[in-house]
Amino acid sequence: MSLWKYFRKGKILEKKQLDLLVALQDLDMMIEEISEMKRLGFSADREDELLKAREDLAAKIKKPLLYSYEKLKKRYKRAIVPVKEDNTCLGCFIRLPTSMSSIGRTDEEVIYCEGCGRILYWLT
Ligand SMILES: [Zn+2]
Repeated sequence: MSLWKYFRKGKILEKKQLDLLVALQDLDMMIEEISEMKRLGFSADREDELLKAREDLAAKIKKPLLYSYEKLKKRYKRAIVPVKEDNTCLGCFIRLPTSMSSIGRTDEEVIYCEGCGRILYWLT
């Protein structure tokens, strides 16, 4: 798990808010997997470590952003979705205006999908 090294070395400090959110989502999915395994009777010795990492990460994200992420997470399984090369939201498959992509790539600002309201990120 490459993400593990990432957290352990504390390299996450200087990342963009959006990158932090994406990492938070990955972490939340791991936590979810672990609790699912626990339900099935497997041991989950890494859970505490994961929860601690999540706490540290969440502390670095601005409160309003974290709040909207949590809200979206309740509504959808994935609160943050990638945008395809043809500028389609992979959450709801709506075609986004091309002007949005340049904003999403360069700014610190987080972009929400006009169709489904999820947080968007561009892979490249
Ligand atoms: Zn969408």
